[in-house]
Amino acid sequence: MKISFHTLGCKLNYSETSQLRDQYEKLGHEIVPFGDRTDAVIINTCTVTENADTECRKIIRKIQQKSPNAFIGVTGCYAQLKSEEISSIPGVDAVIGTADKLKIDQLITDYSKRETPELFVQSIDNAEFAFSQSADEDARTRAFLKLQDGCDYSCTFCTIPMARGKSRSMDLNDIPDRIKRLEEQGYHEIILSGINLGDYHHDDHTFYDVLSLIEDLETKSRFRIGSVEPNLVSNQIIQLITSSKKIVPHLHIPLQSGSPSVLRRMKRRYKASAYRETLLTYKQLLPHACIGADVIVGFPGETDAEFEETFSFIESLPFSYLHVFTYSERDNTPASEYPDAVPMRIRKLRNARLRSLSEHKRLEFYTSEIGKEYIVIPESYDPETGLWKGWTDNYIRCQFSADQHIELQPYRITLLSIDHKNGLVNSSLIDIPIVNQLYFPLSVM
Ligand code: SF4
Repeated sequence: MKISFHTLGCKLNYSETSQLRDQYEKLGHEIVPFGDRTDAVIINTCTVTENADTECRKIIRKIQQKSPNAFIGVTGCYAQLKSEEISSIPGVDAVIGTADKLKIDQLITDYSKRETPELFVQSIDNAEFAFSQSADEDARTRAFLKLQDGCDYSCTFCTIPMARGKSRSMDLNDIPDRIKRLEEQGYHEIILSGINLGDYHHDDHTFYDVLSLIEDLETKSRFRIGSVEPNLVSNQIIQLITSSKKIVPHLHIPLQSGSPSVLRRMKRRYKASAYRETLLTYKQLLPHACIGADVIVGFPGETDAEFEETFSFIESLPFSYLHVFTYSERDNTPASEYPDAVPMRIRKLRNARLRSLSEHKRLEFYTSEIGKEYIVIPESYDPETGLWKGWTDNYIRCQFSADQHIELQPYRITLLSIDHKNGLVNSSLIDIPIVNQLYFPLSVM
């Protein structure tokens, strides 16, 4: 059978689709690109996507035009939360909830079109950790390794705990073997992923134990930490990253708001002052580190003064980039019931201001790093310009000239100048691949 997949939403969703794709391949099915003629399609949805319903209908129409008889299965967070709504969409044959997402290949054995969709949606309260890993869509050298799933927090704007269930993690003892397998597949950078990664816990082990374990592993890869909630970035973790030979100097710490009153209404588990202290401690110890954050604008009741508080908070700190999100109401969340919704026009204006601040921060960070040496892993080659692109350990997107057929291994480079048009740093390769060495962040010149 020919089968294709379509994914919406976060990196974890991509990682899970990739896992599912491997499982179908092992069963002897032919995986075809989404949009090609096929016998079956699995859509992995997200609830964070605005208008998830419209998006899903659009995708299904597209499938039906190309393959009118294709079996259509819908899974993911949206399927878990709105199974009835999805099953009413014409063309859907099965709706599979989050708990069974990675068992679809076992649950469905008959791929003929259904009169009424089959529902495989159960409570996720007792769901167990299901392993997944995937290649970065843009790079053959980076892979995501899911260590944790679900979330026990109750941020008032978020539906993820409802869609993905309680926090659960991979057994610490399984991690070395998973890393070894990724290395055998040729990956040089492994991105540790999770919904609330810093909340990793298995038996008595914590996220600190995961990082210590990685630090002591015989491995040539470098490791990037996906995202850690600010209250979970302990001094112990900062110290470990600072002296690490494996973990790159890059932290993504969701901020959401710099206004203490908005943070309280969001029920976030930290104070803006504590966030500031963590960030400054980290940056003082690792001045060349990259620091990114998620921010939400237009949360219910966010006044001009509160937005300005967030703006000044970010402006005053050494962030390297922001991911800016415009707040949108989600069913069954406390925040959607809050009064004083911010008009959409204002939400958009605030979003634009923060995006422009983000761009300014990124340029400031890139500029401060010019002239220094870092390690880059080549990812993509453009035959028209003859340039390779890749990320440095401290997350600077750079480009450099090299032979089209160079090995996809870590190389040392010097950062030369900023290519403002493409938002990249022009760099030059300074030596041969540093294979067969343990990865180590270079001392900064
Ligand atoms: S920490 Fe908050 S925002 Fe993140 S997944 Fe959990 S509830 Fe959602």
